[in-house]
Amino acid sequence: MAAATGLIAGVSILAPLGAYAATDDHGGAARNDGDKTAAVRESIVDGPAKNVILLIGDGMGDSEITVARNYAEGAAGAFAGIDALPLTGQYTTYALNKDGTPNYASESASTASGWSTGTKTNNGALSVDIAGTPQSTLLELAKANGLRTGNVSTAEIQDATPGAQVAHISARGCYGPVKTTANCAAEALENGGLGSISEQLLTLRPDVVLGGGSATFTEKAVAGDWAGQTLFEQAADRDYQLVSDAAGLDAVTAADQSAPVLGLFTPGNFPTRWIGPEASVGGGDLAPVSCTANPERLDTGLSLASLTDKAIDLLSADSEQGFFLQVEGASIDKRDHAADACGQIGETIDLDEAVQSALAFAKADGNTLVVVTADHAHTSQIVGSTPPGLSVALTTEEGSPMLVSYGTAEAGESQQHTGSQVRIAGYGPGAANVLGLTDQTDLFFTSSNALALNTNLRSLSAAATLTLDQAAVAPGAAFTATGAGLAADWRATSEVSSSASTDPLGVVDVIDGRAVIVGTAPTAPGQYTVTLTGAQTGVSVSSVLTVAAAGTTPAPTVAPTPAPAGAVPGTGPTNGVAAGVAAAVGGLLASTGAQVAPLVGIAALLLAAGGVLVVVRRRRHGVL
Ligand SMILES: [Zn+2]
Repeated sequence: MAAATGLIAGVSILAPLGAYAATDDHGGAARNDGDKTAAVRESIVDGPAKNVILLIGDGMGDSEITVARNYAEGAAGAFAGIDALPLTGQYTTYALNKDGTPNYASESASTASGWSTGTKTNNGALSVDIAGTPQSTLLELAKANGLRTGNVSTAEIQDATPGAQVAHISARGCYGPVKTTANCAAEALENGGLGSISEQLLTLRPDVVLGGGSATFTEKAVAGDWAGQTLFEQAADRDYQLVSDAAGLDAVTAADQSAPVLGLFTPGNFPTRWIGPEASVGGGDLAPVSCTANPERLDTGLSLASLTDKAIDLLSADSEQGFFLQVEGASIDKRDHAADACGQIGETIDLDEAVQSALAFAKADGNTLVVVTADHAHTSQIVGSTPPGLSVALTTEEGSPMLVSYGTAEAGESQQHTGSQVRIAGYGPGAANVLGLTDQTDLFFTSSNALALNTNLRSLSAAATLTLDQAAVAPGAAFTATGAGLAADWRATSEVSSSASTDPLGVVDVIDGRAVIVGTAPTAPGQYTVTLTGAQTGVSVSSVLTVAAAGTTPAPTVAPTPAPAGAVPGTGPTNGVAAGVAAAVGGLLASTGAQVAPLVGIAALLLAAGGVLVVVRRRRHGVL
């Protein structure tokens, strides 16, 4: 029997050679090369990571990836970046309505807020919850934890995806002072709010910001320290390195808190890499065409991959300090809205090249988590025959026709997002957390846990100190107060007060936790308290300033308390150089002048948000 079976088997293999030869490689489509178990096991790496790079394809659903891959790499091909991450899952992207019920069709503001803050919100809102309360973002938390930060996009830098990392505002369109006054009045600077998206960006001060959106920076602030000046003038005054072209960016050799880089290369969004016919009714019946290079595409030194390389170079220059970087390919979404297949495909290829850059760094570095995902799915679908809606026929680079359908809006209208889950893929320490089905908000925790971020902002500024350059000064004389350790504050307010008076000393930027106030002493002799308050955390530090009457010799500076008994008659027991640390926030609110009340109110909101984040994170990890 065995011999007969062997004979039959042999015949069955040999006889039909001609008929089945084409199936010897099973169609050539298999992507696995043997058993992957060992490779997958090896790709699961424990955190923490030193760096996190998030790459977002806006509107890059599975369909958009497939359309682009078919066109550029072939149906059996693979992107060298997007398809190369070893661990892949799916995540849900729904938004909330204001009443907390689910909104199944989300957009870029609610979705970017989801992974930026870990908190779901309503469509149109940036990094506030459905009640409007600001929620700390990954970029803010990374900075407060001492990491360097970057934000790169092919869109206007105020657009929803980059905007969600840097701003807290009720409406994503409030890019600058003009729209904020009109449409986001409660958040306008003149009403005591945090200001427009651009103004919040300038205050947060990421180390590297590269993208479009320069037009908004020509608007003038209507309130605050830079009222009447353009946002460009403000940025220069706050020591940003401003660049507007490839040569300018090339000349930048360092970017840090002393001199962050703000590169704005287009008034609006970047032009896409490719152009082609927009889909039309019956377009699928036309002769298939190929995409062509867009003559308006920016210098290759400003491609998304080049910007990603530059951002990584600048952020990784200090080998001790980790970084958080977000990179967005924005126009997959924007061209999908316009039923422009070639535009969205070219942008996907640009993003793929940026992913290759990030992976190359991560592989060499060995301590970087890279995540590639989308904010929401979109319209385009590959179909087999011309549909009733819009369509376009393309000839792919492997020479076959591909019909792409856009069926969620009429011709000339904006195609809609779709509510499908999207792909999330990861490489590096902590990447296992993308596996299976997660929600977009999980990406916040995947990233913040990978970086081991302390999400309680106030605790990060709690060890702040305040030092006076001289403990005693003549009436009306200048003095300098230096705050340090305000790690989670971007601005600090200051005042000099006594039981009889309170005078504001101004608001300054906090650079690397340091705030320097140059003040003028009161003219009435006596003892005063100089107080510095972090605008984000509400942490307050103070120091005693003695104003000695003219004609008397100011007391010499002495060591901090406890002072030796009778050491310096007349100077008082608290005449020390070292600061008193961190008054309670409650006491701070009571003693803060009206001018800074709005900032402190915001700080309190952020504190509340931080508290919530800590609780949620612990719950998810079973610590509580
Ligand atoms: Zn969109």
